[in-house]
Amino acid sequence: MVVERRTPIQIGEGVKRVLTYTIHKSSEQLAVENTTNRVLAEDLVADHDVPPFDRSPYDGFAIRAEDTGEASQHNPVFLKVVEEIGAGEVAASTVKQGQAIRIMTGAAIPKGADSVAMFEVVKEHEQNSEPMIEVARRFTKGQNISYRGEDTTEGTTLLKKGTLITPGVIALLATFGYAQVSVYQKPRIGIFATGTELLDISEPLQPGKIRNSNAYMIAAQVKEMGGEPVYFGKLKDDFDACFEAISTAIGKVDALITTGGVSVGDYDYLPAIYEKLGAKVLFNKIAMRPGSVTTISEYDGKLLFGLSGNPSACFVGGELFIRPFIKQSLGSTPFLSKTKAVLQSNFPKANPFTRLVRSKVQFKPTGIFVKPTGLDKSSSVTSIAEANAFIVLPGGTRGFEEGAEVDVLLFESESEHNPWIN
Ligand code: AMP
Ligand code: MG
Repeated sequence: MVVERRTPIQIGEGVKRVLTYTIHKSSEQLAVENTTNRVLAEDLVADHDVPPFDRSPYDGFAIRAEDTGEASQHNPVFLKVVEEIGAGEVAASTVKQGQAIRIMTGAAIPKGADSVAMFEVVKEHEQNSEPMIEVARRFTKGQNISYRGEDTTEGTTLLKKGTLITPGVIALLATFGYAQVSVYQKPRIGIFATGTELLDISEPLQPGKIRNSNAYMIAAQVKEMGGEPVYFGKLKDDFDACFEAISTAIGKVDALITTGGVSVGDYDYLPAIYEKLGAKVLFNKIAMRPGSVTTISEYDGKLLFGLSGNPSACFVGGELFIRPFIKQSLGSTPFLSKTKAVLQSNFPKANPFTRLVRSKVQFKPTGIFVKPTGLDKSSSVTSIAEANAFIVLPGGTRGFEEGAEVDVLLFESESEHNPWIN
């Protein structure tokens, strides 16, 4: 048997080919409390000013600045307190010359008043059992007033569709009375694990068998990226059974992930399945380690992500190709952020392919440091758990030494910048 020769392409080129495809989802209405991590499908325009009225930013006294015109340490002025209001209340009286209204944070500035003297800067007295305040400094018109519209004005576009809904976004939605929010439907991403050696999570180990970890890992990745994983189960390495299951599943989802079976082994049937389907192969070899056998093809307008069965390689394939695809489909920021970090161990071996080393980045006062989290093999499963970043070591270069500055991709930080384009 002749082993098929595959021509590797660079990661950037692979990402570019994947991103020529997008899943177009319509929107759905959800209660605002169920929208965390979803993506806005409508622009949010302010339909009123925030704050909606002039209000007090402090607990104190609403006064007329001109009444304090001559006030000083040695020449305090005395103002009569005519009313008291808390947040949510509106004063019944107008502040007239020589008067003040006791006011709490968030309460509307009473008519006639144009500044607020905080509790801390006044002395309170009683005169004939009438409350008075003593003010020993000058105030200017507008001092200590939180003005209507100072946060945002009516008509401002606050959020664009495609915005990821974070707690801060939810605060804005609530501010503008959005009990229901229009969000994009989640792309439905089908998942199959392939491999006769695979056991279900709850099965005891048997000779020669391992538990299927990839399906659960990639489902979690898909979820985190904003997609809806649809797990179709695991398949034995049997061409007909795999072909049947895969060709049926495609119609039920927006894209399909398989793990395993994309290499050149005797039981690696995915390439033949793509061929029989008549799928267009975008690439079947990528210049990266791990995951060089990652194969992505298109059938009926849908992408089929053929990820390696090796857990680390499967994880990398998901982060590099599926993440930007799902994110782009949601109109959101597609990439992991890239930064520089100082390497904390040696990498003596050179490699012709770009390496993505599962690593832990630490932000310290002295700089950003990174070290690998475990066994640097595509088969490693333990190295993924602790990782919060990939070290990206360009292919073709010599080894790397401790102290060298390297590129890292951060799992918990996204960017609009494509890290594979300089
Ligand atoms: P394959 O890509 O099918 O050649 O598999 C490569 C390696 O990954 C083999 O050692 C498999 O046993 C292992 N593997 C395949 N699928 C999974 C899976 N779902 N979970 C964990 N390991 C797997
Ligand atoms: Mg296999």
